[in-house]
Amino acid sequence: MTKQSPNAGQFYATAPYKDAFDIEYPQENLEGQMYVYRCKSCKRLTTEINGRLENHASDCAYRLSRANHGA
Ligand SMILES: [Zn+2]
Repeated sequence: MTKQSPNAGQFYATAPYKDAFDIEYPQENLEGQMYVYRCKSCKRLTTEINGRLENHASDCAYRLSRANHGA
């Protein structure tokens, strides 16, 4: 197996990263803590959310808006 599959590059294009890791929610920096961020809507830390939509609060405005898209 030395020859690369012609579809090798497609894996990255179609990988479900965008669904698995949801990091496009509005974030805000914690005051006085340079490297700590949290969701602007539910105030959970990004380290708690860890890129997972279900880790936002169940009433988080961002989570609700994403859930409406069938996630
Ligand atoms: Zn949130």
